[in-house]
Order: sequence, then C-alpha cells, then structure tokens
Amino acid sequence: MTTQEDNLFLDAKANANPSTEQKPSSKRPNATLICVVCGDGALGYNFDAISCESCKAFFRRNALRPPDRLKCRGTGNCEITVENRKRCKRCRLEKCFKMGMRKEWILTDEEKQKKRNQLVEKHRLKHSQAPTTVHRHRRRIPANSRTENSNSDDDSASPQRTTNTIEETSLMTEVDWSKIHRIQTAYIEAMEYNQVFGVPLYPATHSIHTTLELIRVPTYLSSLRLITYLKKTEEFHLLDIDDRVTLVKHNLLAAVFMHIVLIYNPVADTYHEHNTQDPVFQGKDWVEILGEDFYHDITATVTKIIRIVEYDRVVVKILLLILVYIKGFCAYDLPNEPSLNNMFVAYNVQNIYLETLYKYCLHQYGSTKTIHLFTNLIGAFFSIQRLSIHLKDLTHDVIDASQLSPLMQSVLQLPDTSASRS
Ligand SMILES: [Zn+2]
Ligand SMILES: [Zn+2]
Repeated sequence: MTTQEDNLFLDAKANANPSTEQKPSSKRPNATLICVVCGDGALGYNFDAISCESCKAFFRRNALRPPDRLKCRGTGNCEITVENRKRCKRCRLEKCFKMGMRKEWILTDEEKQKKRNQLVEKHRLKHSQAPTTVHRHRRRIPANSRTENSNSDDDSASPQRTTNTIEETSLMTEVDWSKIHRIQTAYIEAMEYNQVFGVPLYPATHSIHTTLELIRVPTYLSSLRLITYLKKTEEFHLLDIDDRVTLVKHNLLAAVFMHIVLIYNPVADTYHEHNTQDPVFQGKDWVEILGEDFYHDITATVTKIIRIVEYDRVVVKILLLILVYIKGFCAYDLPNEPSLNNMFVAYNVQNIYLETLYKYCLHQYGSTKTIHLFTNLIGAFFSIQRLSIHLKDLTHDVIDASQLSPLMQSVLQLPDTSASRS
C-alpha cells in the first residue's frame, strides 16, 4: 500500500520546485497590468494572456485568418510597442501567439451570429420588463486603446469580457494578479513537461481501441501533467506528504475530467493539449469504448462548463486547483478514505484559490454574472464527481490492475496488483 502511494509521486517525474516568479515591477497600489504584446495598459486576461483592448481586438480580427495573408516589410522581427503596434500586422500577430494568446476559443462568424441573436433576444426581454436602477461605473481604459476597441468587431461577440462595465472597485490587487500569473506559468510549464512516448506525434491522430489504452495514454498523460501542475504551485507544498497523497489519490480523476475542458474541441470532437507533441485523440473512439450514454454525459458536462466560464481558461485552471483540495469529494469509498493530518491547511489553501477566483471573476464579469457563474459551477462539480465515479466503476469491471502503472492504479483506486481478482 505504501509503495503504491510513494509511487504516486515518483511517477510524475516532475520538477518539484514551484516556479520562482518575480513580482511585477509596478509599485502602484492599484494593480496596473501591462499588455504582454505592446506594453500598453491592460485590464485583464484576453485569450489567455494579459493584453490591452487594442491587441485583444487585433487578435480577434486576425488570429483565425491564414497566416501568410499578412506580410512583413521588414525582416520579420519588428519591435512591437504602443506607438508602432499598427505598423506591422504580421509581427504583431506573431508576438501575440508567442506571448501565449490562444485562438482556439475565438468565435467563428457562425457562432458570433448565434450569440448576437441571443443578445438581441435578451435585450428585447430586458426592455419589456420594468427598468432597473443599477448603475455601473467604467474603469478607466487606457486612452489610446479606445478607438480600435470600438471598431467594426463588436465587443458583444467577445468570448472573453462580454460586458464593458468593469466595476470601478476591482478587488484585484497586485498580489492577486501575480498569483494568477504564477498559476498560468505553472500550468503551461506542467503541460510542456511530460511528453508522450510510443504514439505518433502531432498533428497525427491516434486511435484508441480499448479502455486500457484510454487509461494508459490520454488519462495517464493528463494525470502526470496535473500532478506536475500541483507541484509547481507553492501552496501544494504547504501540505504534509500524507495529505498530498490522500488528496491527489482521491481527487485526481475528477481533476482529469475538469482538465478535459481545456483540451476538448467541441466542434471537431477531438482532444489535444496545446503546444505539445501529443497526437490528437478522437471522440469517436471514446464513444465506442465508453458507450454512447457515458460519452454523451462527459461531453455535455464539459460543454456546459465551457459555457459557464465563458471560454475563460484562467477560470478553469483555478477550478482544477480548487477541486483537488475538496476533502471527500471523490465519494467513492468515503469510509476508507484517510482523514487529513492537517485539515486546516488544505482548507486554507482552497480558500486562497476560491478568493482569487471570486475576485478575478468580479473583475472580469461584474457581480451579477459572477454569482451566476459560481452557482452554476456547483452543479458542474457534482457532474464531474458523477463522471469520475462512473469511470472508476467501469475500469474496475474491465481492467486488470497489473497492466497499469502504479500511478493509474492509485488514481483509479484499483485493488493492489498482488491481490488476486475474483
Ligand atoms: Zn497591446
Ligand atoms: Zn514585421
């Protein structure tokens, strides 16, 4: 038993040091965020990177277009600053990608139209009701960002901040932003860390035929990376080793399901971790292995969460951490689940993430939407709990534990390999 639990951590051959991030240089009391592309003032994350309103609009307009459409008249190495960011679109777009902006969740024209229709309908309903007296104040947007922000690309179709009414009293401090920055960095580094062996490399697709393979390849990869992710957060090291093992062993599978939100492409029904050499996994294989009902349950839950968080990847990355610290969440074998040596530490760590998430959402979405988001997420957490119990039951029925690595045996809580199966 102990060896199995020890292996849980040996298996993820990750650099256990939390990344040492330097604090942002700004000393002003209200966190001033700097666009990673051009250096202008920014209000928050857009497309997964801190960016100004101008670069956000630029990225939305250009990221989905064929890359060779834009030409650089220089040497392809133009410096991008607030003053000259409009001079070379090619280099600006390249810098956007280089600095981590993600195009996967930009709405296509068709999706935009759908969203527009929904907004028109919402507007109609709102105006058929009594007027409300809620007033919101705009936070100051950097002056040179406004013109581009109000151009033809309507912000109403933004997959990120769907409202411009950022509350004047943002609770986000410099410390909070650096916390989120550390989470972003930890996630990116963790996903890069464990590369897959013995399968074709991206962009090839890799077919999966059995439950065993499903656990051995994509589930295993996700588990390794999530453990690496946890180890790269400084909060994880506040817990003693036993408590870390208990929480990971019981909650990692649920985290794997939450992680699907970040790698699933609902349009193509495929799975791929961005910026890795992983092959693409196809939903149609999973349907055959897991059965239509279960697979539908998974994709319905995942798309529901994508809708709840409004395509904001930062939220999902914090949710992953929150989920791991819910003692007893697994609910699979609760009477036999060890209690934590120091419940208070786990509780505190979870509170840190919850508070950060809450403040972040208030900043990005305003209070009404944040309450809505949190309420819906509670339901989503229960769906995830149900899915992980279902997968455990399924694997217990069809998989011989000895064929799996110690990590996966532990995560699926399969009986010890030495014990004979009846
Ligand atoms: Zn910018
Ligand atoms: Zn250029």
